Amino acid sequence: MTTVRATEPATEAEQLLKSVFGYEHFRGRQRDIIETVVAGSNALVLMPTGGGKSLCYQIPALIRPGTAVVVSPLIALMRDQVEALAHNGVAAAVLNSSLDADTRRRNEQRLLAGGLDLVYVAPERLLRPPMLSLLERIELSLFAIDEAHCVSQWGHDFRPEYLQLDVLAQRFPAIPRIALTATADERTRGEIARRLLPDGGETFIDSFDRPNIRYSVGIKQNAKRQLLAFIRSRHAGHSGIVYCFSRKRAEDTARFLAEQGFDALPYHAGLDAATRQAHQDRFINEDGLIICATIAFGMGIDKPDVRFVAHLDLPKSIESYYQETGRAGRDGLPADAWMVYGLSDVVQIRQLLSQSSAPEAQQKLERERLESLLAYCEHAGCRRPPLLGYLGEDHAGDCGNCDNCLNPPETWDATEAARMALSCVYRTGQRFGATHLVDVLLGKETERVRQFGHDRVSTFGIGSDIDRKSWHSVLRQLLAAGHLLPDPEGHGGLRLSEQCRELLRGEVSIRMRRDAAPAAKTSSKTRTTVDVDTESSEWLALKSWRLETARAEEVPPYVIFHDATLAAILEARPSTLEELATVSGVGEHKLARYGQQVLEVLDGLESTAVGQPAIRPAG
Ligand code: ADP
Ligand code: ZN
Repeated sequence: MTTVRATEPATEAEQLLKSVFGYEHFRGRQRDIIETVVAGSNALVLMPTGGGKSLCYQIPALIRPGTAVVVSPLIALMRDQVEALAHNGVAAAVLNSSLDADTRRRNEQRLLAGGLDLVYVAPERLLRPPMLSLLERIELSLFAIDEAHCVSQWGHDFRPEYLQLDVLAQRFPAIPRIALTATADERTRGEIARRLLPDGGETFIDSFDRPNIRYSVGIKQNAKRQLLAFIRSRHAGHSGIVYCFSRKRAEDTARFLAEQGFDALPYHAGLDAATRQAHQDRFINEDGLIICATIAFGMGIDKPDVRFVAHLDLPKSIESYYQETGRAGRDGLPADAWMVYGLSDVVQIRQLLSQSSAPEAQQKLERERLESLLAYCEHAGCRRPPLLGYLGEDHAGDCGNCDNCLNPPETWDATEAARMALSCVYRTGQRFGATHLVDVLLGKETERVRQFGHDRVSTFGIGSDIDRKSWHSVLRQLLAAGHLLPDPEGHGGLRLSEQCRELLRGEVSIRMRRDAAPAAKTSSKTRTTVDVDTESSEWLALKSWRLETARAEEVPPYVIFHDATLAAILEARPSTLEELATVSGVGEHKLARYGQQVLEVLDGLESTAVGQPAIRPAG
């Protein structure tokens, strides 16, 4: 956290932070990064999504003479950033393939005339010889290389053009470069430094913790119903993303939510490009839309007010989970990362692994990834240490904002139960699925049990004092821990693994967590931001003013003001422009443009005298 030093005069960077962006304090390492770049040095910036990377080059761009060139692979995102900057009174433009010839010429002329503080360019355009020579003719303040991990050939966002960006170091050795990414791992970091900053630079690593995101993982019973209850209890009217394993499931879930009265749309690779684009545009431009998507959705969307990300199926890895859930709550307001998973997910994923035809080394890596993910899901303590630990960061736990901290799960000594289950798998021939195994343990004389003579095995009925749900939980946890494996043919049968022997022989003991229904508990001890009553008429009035304004200007609502800013306005209840100017997120440009209108909306509310206060105090 930055401390306020009231006695020192504000630096130029601080003044711009307030006057242009409307913010009071720098976050994390922003100040150091800005100072480094302003001084003309290179910087490598690793910050989580929503951490505030953009300001790290936007403020130096305003301080240093000349134009800043921002390289970004994401066209929609460039457009958004330029809109947002324009709304703060900053001269910025885009140069990419999405422009018509006229606009492009006009933007190029502004660039040549020195009329732009920032220009956003796609890498392939930047690398064209005419563009490079154009840049040699103008004054440049810096190069910002966004999504810098695209230079990594090992990552899933690899862009070959990024490899050629080393030309910048050769042709513009005197212009500082700042490379930014939200990908933390060490190998990628090394590659970025080597390829994009071959002449050196300082590295800035921020914590990757996202304190405003509440992580929770529940046991899947009826996934769609559970999702519905979760959205109804915590996110009615909010924007959210629901990630699904398959296209069909994305379709089904969207249809189901729509039937329940929510605005929900599917997004997956099976839809044609126009439909996908239309759904994505609606998600960005509307409030309270839910997208049910396969993993194809989300990259390059920096909608700040996504209030929840739900997983109805297991993500691919902890990294994917972190990336996908990271799309929630970029604005710093409370958000949920919610997941349900069950025994069949574990079986399915373990099967996919066992059918993999990848080379052995790759398979080993995939297995380790899965083990970490399952361990995270079954973890009984604070979610943050295993999550951040996977990204190479220590966390002390006890975060107060995850399911396990809010509702510590009970654990029990499951050694005896585990042995019964394992020996039941063994006695029945290692080829039956969970339902049948539980029937045998409970001593149910089903047709199948009789057909295979399993009413005569020694484990028949030995587990009758444990209920069906708990047996499923035991089997799932044995699978998650790798004591059981699914049969390789994919019929859902379970068999023993090498490692379960010690457990079977009673040489080790095992504790398991008791499954609880995923709770919708709302209290939290680490609320850092005010909680808005989204039903209150004050909130709704401000939001509808914002929506009208956004429609008239053809920009997403958050370009006008973020939710966080609207909430801060409601809390401050300004009655003059001077008071409004002190609210976080209100810069000079927006004050001049919208200040009067906002005061009128607030005035209108005064005169109709609404009873309920819209702001609930934290906690
Ligand atoms: P990133 O690119 O790292 O994902 P952004 O640059 O989009 O994040 O910033 C995320 C949000 O945080 C934006 O809404 C931005 O306006 C806001 N923000 C950035 N820095 C500050 C700050 N110092 N004080 C308040 N809000 C900030
Ligand atoms: Zn926790």
